[in-house]
Amino acid sequence: MKNCFSIQDYVAMHRALEEAKKAFSLGEVPIGAVLTKEGQIIARAFNAMEEKQDPTAHAELLCIQKGAEKMGSWRLLDTILYTTLEPCVMCGGAILLSRLKKVIWAAPDIRHGSHGSWVNLFEKKHPTHSLEIIGGLCQEEAAHLMRFFFKKQRRKKENLNLTITFT
Ligand SMILES: [Zn+2]
Repeated sequence: MKNCFSIQDYVAMHRALEEAKKAFSLGEVPIGAVLTKEGQIIARAFNAMEEKQDPTAHAELLCIQKGAEKMGSWRLLDTILYTTLEPCVMCGGAILLSRLKKVIWAAPDIRHGSHGSWVNLFEKKHPTHSLEIIGGLCQEEAAHLMRFFFKKQRRKKENLNLTITFT
């Protein structure tokens, strides 16, 4: 499976991981995405649900919106979306509607993943357009970042409880 990824894929996924780290530093769940066209990054975004207090402010969706703005078209033809987490059903829907060529994701999302971890939006061939979707590129790095984030969050909560106990 790993053999199907190119050097360009690795480079782009590392850019997506950089976006995820930006989210981390802002206290957001660390998920990042980039969109490429002909090997060039045309949009990048990270999860901003906390900042925007918007349940739809997912990295993939924000990245698709930025990409459409950059291209001046909602049809993101010949583009590849790299995301550090398996897209959820909302983002999976947006991916299908935006006519992306390909999606590569890093770590599975067992709670909301729409590429087989929870449901599979992509198992059935679409009648009018085709999309290639592959998971597992830089999986460990992306999963580690998530685990580290939630561990830190738990510790923060525990410390808060401790403070409350002692005051
Ligand atoms: Zn999503």
